[in-house]
Amino acid sequence: MVILGKWRQQSVTLSFKPNALTISLDGQEGPRVFSYDLCGRLWTAMLRQVSYRRGLNGKVVAKWIAPDGSRGRRWLEPEEANHLLSEASEIATHLLQATQTGEVLLSEKPSEDELTFLSRAAAYQADIATADAQQYHAVYKPVGILPPDQYMAVVLQLTEGCAFNTCTFCTFYRDRPFRIKKPPEFREHIASVKKFLADGLNLRRTIFLGDANALITPMPQLTALLDEVHNALDVEKLGGIYAFLDGFSGEKKSREDYAQLAHLGLKRVYIGLESGDPELLRLLKKPGHPADAITAVREMKAAGVAVGLIVLLGAGGHQFERSHVRETIRVLNEMPLDADDLIYFSELIESEGMPYVQSAFEERLQPLTSDERIHQGELIEQGLRFTEAGGTPHISRYDIREFVY
Ligand code: SF4
Repeated sequence: MVILGKWRQQSVTLSFKPNALTISLDGQEGPRVFSYDLCGRLWTAMLRQVSYRRGLNGKVVAKWIAPDGSRGRRWLEPEEANHLLSEASEIATHLLQATQTGEVLLSEKPSEDELTFLSRAAAYQADIATADAQQYHAVYKPVGILPPDQYMAVVLQLTEGCAFNTCTFCTFYRDRPFRIKKPPEFREHIASVKKFLADGLNLRRTIFLGDANALITPMPQLTALLDEVHNALDVEKLGGIYAFLDGFSGEKKSREDYAQLAHLGLKRVYIGLESGDPELLRLLKKPGHPADAITAVREMKAAGVAVGLIVLLGAGGHQFERSHVRETIRVLNEMPLDADDLIYFSELIESEGMPYVQSAFEERLQPLTSDERIHQGELIEQGLRFTEAGGTPHISRYDIREFVY
């Protein structure tokens, strides 16, 4: 229900949805918008022309567009994040009081349930947020990365870590060995995730199986673990199951396997293709060969499972610039991609201590600038061909620095 009102010389909109509460104010301070899940957790905010996205782990990323049109982004310090929470909580608190005193003129009176959600948003201050983040860390091993369209998923860590952990450009799972959970442990994990999300569960849009390679799990174990998911959650209502898979190696699944997984709710598999150039993959220490990725995608698509391909822009610098573009176009064009699929262009982000930086130094690789990386993505995109009948996959950028969960 949307309730409109006037309060302290500003217009107010209270939007109560089945999965979220949004408070919008427009007055002298300009538009301010705060959204909360039904536990009262601040989820997004927009004020003073800066938009904020807050993860379940309590971290907040701020994004804005500068007057010259350039985009800015930074992660808030904990004190800044607390300040944002205080501002959001204060507005919810005052609005709640105003509804009780009649100080705010509303088009409709909020229901008891709606007032409960508003009071939860009012109570969500730094101390509650800290306890909430502690509970998050008790439930999850750090969630390293998700595809951008999965930031609102319910993450279930069916496995932990990465079975390979060799890729020089990836440091997401260096802190933990790969392991597959046994059904009792996974059952407990799902229960603790549900308890943690509580009323916030219905803001989540899909189920994402963590960590990096959950689908490498052999079929008998995997189906038993997926049964645990079905026993605890309404998979279809939540939008189905999604996961990463390293398409190049490990236990290879057949078309029949993928059909069985589709029957169990698997909707899309995300594959870190990185490049179609086998020489570049060797340099990156990415296991396997692009031909295996082509085979895996064909099997998935034939079984009715969509795919998301991730291409690493800038990898190998100028030395691999042409072969990376050429071979990636060739490999993607050999995949039966259609409008159900996604292609992400992810810029290589070098950081201190990343093995790629050392190997780039040893190989005397000349790095591409950010603009050149973006141009590389454009060149790949220009070379892609899709069938008219199948349509074009959704193609977009994937900036891992903006990942929030
Ligand atoms: S296979 Fe994927 S998760 Fe594992 S190290 Fe390579 S890029 Fe990282």
